[in-house]
Amino acid sequence: MWPEEATQLVQADRSLTELTAVGPFTATFIRTWLRDEPDTPAPPPIRSGFMTLARARAVVAAHPEWRSALRADHQMHTEETDGSSSIDDMAVAAAALGRARIAITDHSKTLRITNGMDEPRLAAQGRLIDERNLRGDPPRVLKAIEMDLTPEGAGDMDAEALARLDLVLGAFHSKLRLKDDQTDRYLRALANPDIDVLAHPRGRIYNFRLGLTCDWVRVAGRAAELGTALEIDAYPDRQDLDVERLGIVAAQGAWVSIGTDAHTPDELAYLEIGVAAAIEGGVGRERVLNCLSDDALAAHVGAVRARKQTSGDDATSTIASRRG
Ligand SMILES: [Zn+2]
Repeated sequence: MWPEEATQLVQADRSLTELTAVGPFTATFIRTWLRDEPDTPAPPPIRSGFMTLARARAVVAAHPEWRSALRADHQMHTEETDGSSSIDDMAVAAAALGRARIAITDHSKTLRITNGMDEPRLAAQGRLIDERNLRGDPPRVLKAIEMDLTPEGAGDMDAEALARLDLVLGAFHSKLRLKDDQTDRYLRALANPDIDVLAHPRGRIYNFRLGLTCDWVRVAGRAAELGTALEIDAYPDRQDLDVERLGIVAAQGAWVSIGTDAHTPDELAYLEIGVAAAIEGGVGRERVLNCLSDDALAAHVGAVRARKQTSGDDATSTIASRRG
């Protein structure tokens, strides 16, 4: 999370205590370690495939054509569930960072630990968003949700309530430590006609959980066929999907959606990590939902929903299959 790499400070003979949370003891420790281990050892899998914020900023700065991706942030939480702040606070902070569009994606009711929303609360939040958008203050706020998905790929919200939203993210939050291949779980979730984006697809967390495994060529290929986007969750300890898998997503031509998963206004700054991952993974800007105008995004989402509703034989819809 430091704005500069520690190695750069050492090379420039600057003090490491310039970095947040580094005191004299840690500075000495890092210096000794860098001197004795000039070749940084590969991190273990649970800590590999993560980018520093300094690196992300350098990558984005080297690709000015990607600045349009930084105009939209498609995942964040408010005090309605487990976030710290109001919609207005998040929107004002996002506008200060140059965002023209944000999606408010609070949790759905099954995720009780986050105080997840039921349909009436979702509708009430939607009215607040409409009022804010009517005032015309930037950014444009999308009515959205991060809906919990069962391992069978089913959601927990009424399909009509979801259809009124601008963007529906679906995410797995349970059985994330299974070691066997989860390709079928992904294929079912992608075909769920109620979701537009599969959020933090692997469910990995830095130094805590490796995340799920599957045949990414098949999963990304199916996502491309269906039009369901795969997310780059830019939260620093998630970075999910990562650069390696985004290379597969790019090759298969699937859509990508980038969001910070911010729970506080400060965390909205992490969007660059997600954009840098898209760049490094070789994803084309024409496959990134963030790069679409508001109107083009609405048209795209509408078309994909219509196609999935009519063509989904293996589609797992929301309430019925959860009960079934
Ligand atoms: Zn989540």
